Amino acid sequence: MFCLSLTLLVAALLNLSHAQNETKIESTVQFLFPNYCCTALTLSPVSMRVTYPGQSAYEASLGSYFDGKSRLTPNCIVQPKAAEEVSITVKVLTAASLLKPCQFAVRSGGHTPIPGSNNVDDGVTIDLLYMNSTTYDTGTKIASISPAARWGSVYQTLEPLGRMVAGGRGSTVGVGGFLLGGGISHYAARVGLSCDNVVNFQVVLADGRIVNSNKNKSADLFTALKGGSSNFGIVTRYDMETFQNENLWGGIVTYPASTADQHFKALVNFGLNPKRDPSAALIVFQGYSTASPTDVVRAAFDYTKPVPRPDAYKEFFAVANNISDTTKVQPMSAVAAEFGSDTTKRVQFRTLSFKIDLATLQETARLYKIMITELQAKASGQWRVSCLHQVWSTRYTANSMYKGGNVLGMERYTENFIMYQSYLSWSEAKDDELFINQGLALTDGIQKFASSKGTAVDYLYLNYADKDQDPLSAYGADKVKFMRTVARKYDPSGIYQNLLPGGFKIPNV
Ligand SMILES: Cc1cc2nc3c(=O)[nH]c(=O)nc-3n(C[C@H](O)[C@H](O)[C@H](O)COP(=O)(O)OP(=O)(O)OC[C@H]3O[C@@H](n4cnc5c(N)ncnc54)[C@H](O)[C@@H]3O)c2cc1C
Repeated sequence: MFCLSLTLLVAALLNLSHAQNETKIESTVQFLFPNYCCTALTLSPVSMRVTYPGQSAYEASLGSYFDGKSRLTPNCIVQPKAAEEVSITVKVLTAASLLKPCQFAVRSGGHTPIPGSNNVDDGVTIDLLYMNSTTYDTGTKIASISPAARWGSVYQTLEPLGRMVAGGRGSTVGVGGFLLGGGISHYAARVGLSCDNVVNFQVVLADGRIVNSNKNKSADLFTALKGGSSNFGIVTRYDMETFQNENLWGGIVTYPASTADQHFKALVNFGLNPKRDPSAALIVFQGYSTASPTDVVRAAFDYTKPVPRPDAYKEFFAVANNISDTTKVQPMSAVAAEFGSDTTKRVQFRTLSFKIDLATLQETARLYKIMITELQAKASGQWRVSCLHQVWSTRYTANSMYKGGNVLGMERYTENFIMYQSYLSWSEAKDDELFINQGLALTDGIQKFASSKGTAVDYLYLNYADKDQDPLSAYGADKVKFMRTVARKYDPSGIYQNLLPGGFKIPNV
């Protein structure tokens, strides 16, 4: 029925095209069918998955974006329940685009705080909400995870089976975007980045074919998906290696801001230690929140074995006067719940990287203080700032290479470095410009300092990058060339480049 209607429409309008140009066809379609792309979906076999403004499924979908700014208003949202329905959706949108471009967005967990990356104004959002299962095969020891599963639910499914995967550190984060951007887990120094623990991606290509991509089949696509984000297709299943589950010793210890220097010195020694224990994951962050307005330093310790207060963190334990301490031996699902997040704020992430260097760390603290003072003077409502320092270890790369490699270009770095993330959240839309500019000034200031001191590292981690940053180019020219070739091979019409406006794009495809 849909195909017949669409064919008749296409035939009628193509006749028109003899006399009129493309723009006129588009405007005629727009005039006849103001909601053309959604109408096409409504006439197709996925009609029952389409939801419109005002309907409860539509409003619930918008309300569940992690970042308030990302609640754009698509003309309709389609919520497929299986890969076959994703395939139909892609075929309908590409066929309908012959007359008028149907722009679309893809959303899994909806955690990327960049408006337009996972949602679209005046287009169609493919919300994978219902594709959220986790299953485990005891024979192969592989977990098959659907894109909109949240990491908390993945851990709760696997733990009773005695298995674990290298997934996100926050329970609410989605599997889909996280794995396509690399994925840093507490297990990264032991097993590599999360994307390197994927052994097979099931993908819907631009022509609607559903293919498996792994080291034997479409191996180039397999590599490109490990870090290449949404440029190649819509991933409908991630098959991941599992390992034996054990409780972790972990939690967050909060200290007064005056301990920042001691923490940075300990971080330098931790990060530069060639014999660093691969079970010891760590994030050191500075934080301020209007909810409890004290400037603090936090250390998130996550030792991936059930060993309380392991030696790996000895120097941090020597810092006195902590304000609170949640560390204990607990399952990964509980650790991830502590990193959970609400969906009531507006959010900005930015990132940059620099060498493990005390002066650069101290400069981050100086610029952070300037920013907090500005925000205290100018911001309204509730707000919070966390600035995270993490050691990006060559062990991640070694594990990744061993498992077949990805496109992140990590092999260029022979020394550990600091990956910095600023994370600003605020309640008032009128403060968007203030926070966005403050975040920008902070990372620009650190970048300037690092460049002048020779400590800058040109890597940008995609999952923490902001809209104006270009993490794919930061993978290196050879990786960009490779991704470009793969995108052209699997998507020769450039559907995922042109109809999917959001996300980080490969330059010059
Ligand atoms: C509270 C919080 C904690 C975090 N913790 C970590 C962490 O521990 N480690 C880490 O590495 N990162 C972390 N992140 C960053 C996180 O990895 C990214 O925000 C990631 O994109 C989230 O995945 P998602 O599925 O929720 O994203 P979405 O916003 O749904 O998608 C992100 C991007 O991927 C695309 N995409 C999503 N699913 C698919 C799919 N199936 N096929 C094709 N394209 C798709 C989207 O179109 C979009 O461009 C955290 C983020 C938050 C907000």
